[in-house]
Amino acid sequence: MKIAFIAHDRKKDEMVNFVTAYENVFEGHELYSTGTTGKRIMEKTDLEIHRFMSGPLGGDQQIGALVAQNEMDLIIFLRDPLMAQPHEPDINALLRLCDVQGIPLGTNIATAEILVKALDRGDFAWRELVHKYKPGAEI
Ligand code: PGA
Repeated sequence: MKIAFIAHDRKKDEMVNFVTAYENVFEGHELYSTGTTGKRIMEKTDLEIHRFMSGPLGGDQQIGALVAQNEMDLIIFLRDPLMAQPHEPDINALLRLCDVQGIPLGTNIATAEILVKALDRGDFAWRELVHKYKPGAEI
């Protein structure tokens, strides 16, 4: 399962605590993140994360490219709703693409908790079928 983590600056501690708490659930998956978020998580866990560019420099768009191709399976994006972001258009584009493809997306810690439990239970197994029957995929 391809999983992406993004956290705005004032949400990074919360993200690190969250991923640390569920490290055993996330290990074994293909993990992605924006630059600083991934760096912070890797400092506190043994997880290997493919880090894209920092969000304001295009990291959200890089993750969005995988979403557009229906490659990304789950996104935990802890947004800061109380601070304007310079890359708001990129953020909106990512959220829109998640809705276009129907990608599970949690934008606050309460939803993230539900999603990680669903991941652990295998509730996202349907994503394997999406990959299997994607146009061009080997059957
Ligand atoms: P960052 O990007 O992980 O590089 O800080 C996230 C963001 O702020 O959009």
